[in-house]
Amino acid sequence: MSQSVCLRCGALKTGAWVACPECHHLPSDVRDRAKHLLASDAYLSASVLQSTSAAIRAGHPPEFPEAQVQAEIREIESLEQEGESSFAFPLVAATAVLLLLAAGAAWAWLA
Ligand SMILES: [Zn+2]
Repeated sequence: MSQSVCLRCGALKTGAWVACPECHHLPSDVRDRAKHLLASDAYLSASVLQSTSAAIRAGHPPEFPEAQVQAEIREIESLEQEGESSFAFPLVAATAVLLLLAAGAAWAWLA
């Protein structure tokens, strides 16, 4: 698991999108998740994570370049779309088969 900094309180936590162990902040919208990813060891070295944590605790949250946040948001959205389409197809297919079976059963019962 990767190390990340809670952008609300500055606590170090394991994983960018998990609830903070100290303030329980959970990055939920895509913009918040993008920023927490940028504040994880995927992008920052351990020592920068420590100094980011200290800066947030001191009341100086890091400013992320808007272009970097936007790029990360696009990355998250494209990953989620891939996830959805690969999940959605078998589900739609299974529903169609069930509907056909139900229609067939109803037809056989009526006839
Ligand atoms: Zn926190």
